[in-house]
Amino acid sequence: MGKIANIKLEKTETPFKRPFHVTNSVQTVATNITCKITLDNGVVGLGEASPSFRVNGEVVNSLLAMEGFLNDFLKGLDVSRYRAIFEKTSKLLSAPSLRAGIEFAILDAYSKELGIKPYKLLGGSETKLETDKTVSIGSLEERLEEAKEIIDEGFRIMKVKVGEDLKEDIEAMTEIAKLKSGMRFIIDANMGYTPKEAVFFIKEMYRQGIDVAIFEQPVRFDDFEGLKYVRFHSDFPVAADESIKTPYDALRLIKEEAVDFFNIKIMKSGISHAITISEIAKAKNIGLMIGAMAETSTGITQSVHLALGLGGFKYFDLDTIFLLDEKEFKGDFIIEKPFYRVE
Ligand code: MN
Repeated sequence: MGKIANIKLEKTETPFKRPFHVTNSVQTVATNITCKITLDNGVVGLGEASPSFRVNGEVVNSLLAMEGFLNDFLKGLDVSRYRAIFEKTSKLLSAPSLRAGIEFAILDAYSKELGIKPYKLLGGSETKLETDKTVSIGSLEERLEEAKEIIDEGFRIMKVKVGEDLKEDIEAMTEIAKLKSGMRFIIDANMGYTPKEAVFFIKEMYRQGIDVAIFEQPVRFDDFEGLKYVRFHSDFPVAADESIKTPYDALRLIKEEAVDFFNIKIMKSGISHAITISEIAKAKNIGLMIGAMAETSTGITQSVHLALGLGGFKYFDLDTIFLLDEKEFKGDFIIEKPFYRVE
């Protein structure tokens, strides 16, 4: 089987269709890194890193500068022994998104050698998933306009970003929920609330009969007690996102009974630790969702194949391909809104 001969990193910039506004952050362009691994037999594996300064403290230029190091570090390794390679890449603690892109490129190359799809290499549990689509923070009018579009496009699970203004958030949810009955909501505060604000908010959702599938990261990432407080005062499941990056976070969140769900993102954990976290969750009956940073279709392919390969994920927040103005779809999956399918 082929050995790693060359690793090439290339920066890409993709504009968002609309500014993407979450608690304390507005993004207009997604800056990602394409990871291309060429084997000595000519096979090419493709991955993508979607770095996040907000969540991971990653700086794009620092990651790009690691190209030479990565070639020295991984050159000559046999991709069919990918678990052994992941032992090495698990040391890339300061570059989790790069780790994800590199690890997937290795899986992609090995899959091509075997003539199968990456999701089969990862276990082949499922072949189809349903994604949500996201309403970002904005004026009430902007939020309603985005919500209407999402409904018209046929999505049945709507993610709504909240966390900057409690009163406006409640008003927005009240109006959005009136647009269509039967809609399910994933509400993500991106750490914006205090524990008491979060409880006030979620009790109000319950009182209004709004169907909240997940209340995501209501409080600061390091406030495990706050998460637990919200969890035990909420009628709806509470998920960790910014709070869960490593398997050690998973073990601590479980020990402290802090959440009902983990939102796994390969850009926080790489492929290998995303697998570890999912196994920890399954062992303790913690629910699983999978999300994304700002991946293009190249990067979303990775999470689609991982989640379908491993199985057991309940919610899929893999909508960045609809939020970005990507010139060309490069994904290795089929879109049938609101579903993604692999062959
Ligand atoms: Mn989130």
